[in-house]
Amino acid sequence: MKNNRLMVPEHPEIPYLQGNGIGPEIWQAAQPVLDAAVRRAYQGRCEIEWLPQQTIMELKRHLVAIKGPMTTPVGTGHRSINVALRQTLDLYACWRPVRYFKGAPSPVKHPERVCMDVFRENTEDIYAGIEAAAQSSAAQSLKKWLQETSQLNRVRFPNTAAFGIKPISKEGSQRLVQSAVDYALKNHRHYLTLVHKGNIMKETEGGFKKWGYQLIDQKYAKRALTMPRLDKIKKEQGEAVAQQVLQQAQTQGMLVVNDIICDNFFQQALLFPEHFDVVATMNLNGDYLSDALAAQVGGLGIAPGSNINFQTGCAIFEATHGTAPQLTGKGLANPTSLILSGAMMMEYLGWRQAAELIRKAVAQAIAMQKATSDLVPAPAALSTSQYGQLLVELINS
Ligand code: NAD
Repeated sequence: MKNNRLMVPEHPEIPYLQGNGIGPEIWQAAQPVLDAAVRRAYQGRCEIEWLPQQTIMELKRHLVAIKGPMTTPVGTGHRSINVALRQTLDLYACWRPVRYFKGAPSPVKHPERVCMDVFRENTEDIYAGIEAAAQSSAAQSLKKWLQETSQLNRVRFPNTAAFGIKPISKEGSQRLVQSAVDYALKNHRHYLTLVHKGNIMKETEGGFKKWGYQLIDQKYAKRALTMPRLDKIKKEQGEAVAQQVLQQAQTQGMLVVNDIICDNFFQQALLFPEHFDVVATMNLNGDYLSDALAAQVGGLGIAPGSNINFQTGCAIFEATHGTAPQLTGKGLANPTSLILSGAMMMEYLGWRQAAELIRKAVAQAIAMQKATSDLVPAPAALSTSQYGQLLVELINS
């Protein structure tokens, strides 16, 4: 990084982690597609030198990496390596674009109306992993504190309850919201929606909403109009003036920023997805809603993502999905999520042409109904590697 800009050599070394489960097979299908796009776009001038299995410190040194999924056991065993990577490298923004490709199967009537970018806070929330097991000494200490602050009566079964702690900070919320606003403004999106459960978690999720609006009103007042600001205008100058201000802001291409309670978001995103462009939310909400939105446009097989620290430039690109144990080793997994994550990485490196070649090949294959069995009925479906080869051919054609 120099002056906040990523300086990319023509032959960058990029670490990759295949992950486990379906990770190695989707990586084997994805890597030739990424290489083909770079070769075609830059005629040999640029090339990625892939570095296998780096340590976290080496990932930090190389700044940009790509990874496959990794298993996290439920209930017992080690904590999530995925979460550890995001926290150690402080990759605070998880950006997941949700796009429909014509021909992909969908449970909704108008999947083409879905065109959203989810910005999920990636380092805070219950993912901090601060928990006290039921009846442990930590749980006793928490109970003591609850007693001292007259809150123990809020715990329904205090003697057997396990506890979790949910840190949400002003800095953490604002840097995430800032990355969502910057993205929305740069890409001429119309709406930014802060998704929260601030009606119940007033200090944490309510804080996220409050600090998000504060940042936008302080830093982006000329380019974005927030609902609290519009409400103030309504109160002071009346409904008609407020309507005028809103219309003017929209005509001038200002970003309109509102918020919605998370449960309602799930409903509205199904019924009126066209009302949402960019969505900013906290870690757990973001986890849930990115899988649900992916389902609307064809499933986790085509859901790319990235984990980015926009201040240091450090970024790890990875699919939204996990290790899909029931698909492992069968040649059934769809490598598109990883491939499109690779396209996001190309764009991040400033290699837009290569990214566009990849997206065009994916769109062509899906439109021709030539894809893996999650997208195409079984007899016509391609295996993971056949589909990868097809994408290489489409890029080269
Ligand atoms: P999953 O994402 O692995 O699978 C959920 C569903 O999506 C399954 O029905 C699966 O068949 C389908 N699916 C996922 N990827 C697909 C693909 N490429 N092609 C076609 N279908 C695909 O979620 P899970 O089963 O709940 O989790 C399995 C493991 O993955 C767990 O250990 C979990 O902790 C881990 N996980 C890791 C990451 C990560 O590495 N970032 C993310 C999510 C889950």
